[in-house]
Amino acid sequence: MTYEQEKLSIEAKLGLNTYKIAKAAHILPDQARCAVCRERWCLRICPGNLYSLGADGQIVLNYEGCLECGTCLVVCSHLTWEYPEGGCGVQYRLG
Ligand code: SF4
Ligand code: SF4
Repeated sequence: MTYEQEKLSIEAKLGLNTYKIAKAAHILPDQARCAVCRERWCLRICPGNLYSLGADGQIVLNYEGCLECGTCLVVCSHLTWEYPEGGCGVQYRLG
């Protein structure tokens, strides 16, 4: 990585990524568990800020922007978590 690339902000670095979107979500929250979850770590821990609360109070995950870091899986045992189907998902770019 060059000096110029190291100076980019996290947001700018993430903006360099490209994604091949899978048709189906590769991470699924267990909405029944989410309904009684007090911690809701997912809303705070995802580096892509991909989890949110829907108008109906359900957890919404915009899986299309997933960085495949696995952080949400570390903090929550109520997720069905797989890598995106073959050839899909994030492609990290250095510039
Ligand atoms: S931390 Fe897990 S169980 Fe709690 S709201 Fe998020 S996905 Fe649901
Ligand atoms: S794997 Fe990482 S980027 Fe993807 S949803 Fe979980 S915390 Fe967010």
